[in-house]
Amino acid sequence: MEGTVGTGNYVHKTKLNLRTDFFNKADEWLADDYNYSSLCMITFDIQNFHFFNKWYGREAGDMLLKAVGDFLYNIEQSGEAICGYIGGDNFSVLFGYNGYMINKITDNLQEIVRAYAKNDLSISAAFGAYKYAEGDNKYSAVEIYDYTVDALKNLKDSNINWIDPSIVQKREEELRMLPEIINALDNNEFIFFLQPKCHLKTRKIIGSEALVRWISPTRGMVPPGYFISLLEDHGLITSLDLLIWEQVCAKIREWMDEGLYVPPISVNVSRVDILQLDVPLTFEHLTKKYNLEPNRIEIEITESAYTDDEAKIINTVNRLHQAGFKVLIDDFGSGYSSLNILKDIPADVLKLDMKFLGDHNQTDSKGNSIIESVLEMSRRLHIPSIIEGVEHEEQVLNLMDLGCEFAQGYYYYKPMPQDDFKMLITNDSIVGKKAPDKTTRITEKSHLQQFYEYFVKAADVNINSGKYTFLKTDSLHREINVPEASTIKEYAERFINLGIIHHDDVAGYIKLFDKDYLLKRIANGSNKFLHSLRYFKDGKYEWVLFEITVPNDFDPIDNPTLLFTWKNIGVRYQSSEDLLYLLSLNFHKLLRVNLESQRFESLHVNKDELTKKKGYSEKIGLWLKNFAKTGNVHSDDVENYLKFANTKKMQKHFEKSDEPLSISYRRLVGEEFVTVTMTICKSLQYTKQRPIVLLYLKD
Ligand code: C2E
Ligand code: CA
Ligand code: CA
Repeated sequence: MEGTVGTGNYVHKTKLNLRTDFFNKADEWLADDYNYSSLCMITFDIQNFHFFNKWYGREAGDMLLKAVGDFLYNIEQSGEAICGYIGGDNFSVLFGYNGYMINKITDNLQEIVRAYAKNDLSISAAFGAYKYAEGDNKYSAVEIYDYTVDALKNLKDSNINWIDPSIVQKREEELRMLPEIINALDNNEFIFFLQPKCHLKTRKIIGSEALVRWISPTRGMVPPGYFISLLEDHGLITSLDLLIWEQVCAKIREWMDEGLYVPPISVNVSRVDILQLDVPLTFEHLTKKYNLEPNRIEIEITESAYTDDEAKIINTVNRLHQAGFKVLIDDFGSGYSSLNILKDIPADVLKLDMKFLGDHNQTDSKGNSIIESVLEMSRRLHIPSIIEGVEHEEQVLNLMDLGCEFAQGYYYYKPMPQDDFKMLITNDSIVGKKAPDKTTRITEKSHLQQFYEYFVKAADVNINSGKYTFLKTDSLHREINVPEASTIKEYAERFINLGIIHHDDVAGYIKLFDKDYLLKRIANGSNKFLHSLRYFKDGKYEWVLFEITVPNDFDPIDNPTLLFTWKNIGVRYQSSEDLLYLLSLNFHKLLRVNLESQRFESLHVNKDELTKKKGYSEKIGLWLKNFAKTGNVHSDDVENYLKFANTKKMQKHFEKSDEPLSISYRRLVGEEFVTVTMTICKSLQYTKQRPIVLLYLKD
């Protein structure tokens, strides 16, 4: 902004250090035996100062600058800081980092600007700030100043932006690499490796993914993690991708000409490509040039791309599709947008990554249930899926159990040079022809309906304020969230207090509503939290997977929104449970009981039963006894009732017989005694080791 605003008069009048003096003095301070890590620099500018000049005149502009300058001059006179006028509407201050000084400077400057700008809220003070860290003495004052300007440019919601030395360092390293990369693009130092995609069970190769590698004469082989996002940030990824796509097409042509069967190769398309190129047209040209059927090439677009320019991306995918290219949604489930993607985009294959599906070394039931539910969803939508990042044999066995068909990962093959891949596909017996293919797609409407069925509830939650917005709710929500709970935690507690969340599942559940706990885990790198729980609905407990998704662009201050979802995972139990549900309509109470462990759970409890005081023991034997002893059973029937309520005796009976056991007794309902029958019968799951029975109460 230097030189573009103001009359230039101010610079002649100010008593403040001018640019060069300021930097020299600051460097002297820094060179002094001073504790660097306790210094900070704040650079200040006036937002929309050119408008201020336009509206109030340049004289007024100079007056404002003078007021600011006078204030800063006094600060410097106190000996606590070095202040400078850099030019235009830019001032900078170097001082010992302390909250009091920071507030004194920022508050006063803001006040001065407000006083001059009267009621124009668009004219305000903005601050870019840098706090020195250990080892920062290698930077000169002018370098630090540049960082503060950078921070100022990237100001978000608040009027001060502190820049982190680690961000600065990373950016610096990257920027140093940038000219090298541009050079490398010219020198054709980028090639691609191929990583086979396999049939999970037979291990046959059904395709592969082209993954770029930089073969640098000085650095050796550099994986894409080091340069992709940098190239994206500088709009250069497109040049690289065009290069790789063409290399891939040329290679397929070459191998086909040698008479090889080449299973489809997928390439990665960055969101930047979609914004900068006509991607469908590019692929049409390429396939024409190399005389390839479009089904030889598959296109991977990462899920996070869909959040950017939705309309453009949806359009691109549709056109790719029409031209005969398969589109894979890469890293499906990693981000926020999973839901909407499936609603809007005709994806051909979902690509799930083990690392987004919970701890990939774990084969525990929770990890399973998430993979299972995603697989279930993809099956329901008739979209095939492939799991990548498969590393261990246990994972494979597990994935087989879950009905997964295709996989990519180190367990099968690591990404490899093209010639190694060629050797593999030369061997007919390791190439499979059965690729992930879409079965008939259900009509859009039922597809949507099924999709929404998949979630019981979904909400956006601001983790800082606890405020929430439900994207989808169920009937219970509408019943219970009146009046509306003010925070998501309060919301969850309401369901817990009403017994809607099974008491065994409460502890792990409520923890996930603790802001500090979540933020700490997120800071340590967690991006998903899962908890399966039993949720009481329509007269029975259903297994629900509660899931918190941390969006890719989550930021604890600027974008503190998390996605909370509740989804049904009781698919396996569903059919038998439905039957039970029909039966249960006739019952006051229906429990599933393990006679051996004496544990039990309610499958159905009438509403009036639900409100009865809880607090009985969790063992069924004791529970029944307490029920009688607290006056619920007519005194004349208590003796018989207690004899009946002997679980050891029941167990003996069922070892020999399939006949149900039952007893009639008078039971207190409201003010009067009513005769009811309690029946206990073997469940379908009954075994000697796990003697599971059903207990029901009927009029
Ligand atoms: P991606 O598309 O998700 O690619 C999969 C990454 O996972 C690859 O890393 C692959 O080597 C790695 N991987 C495969 N199996 C396993 C496994 O079992 N365990 C583990 N831990 N990792 C496995 P790579 O090659 O480093 O690529 C990283 C990312 O760079 C890719 O992620 C993709 O987003 C991007 N990328 C790669 N090539 C290109 C390209 O040509 N163009 C663009 N735009 N992006 C690319
Ligand atoms: Ca990929
Ligand atoms: Ca991936």
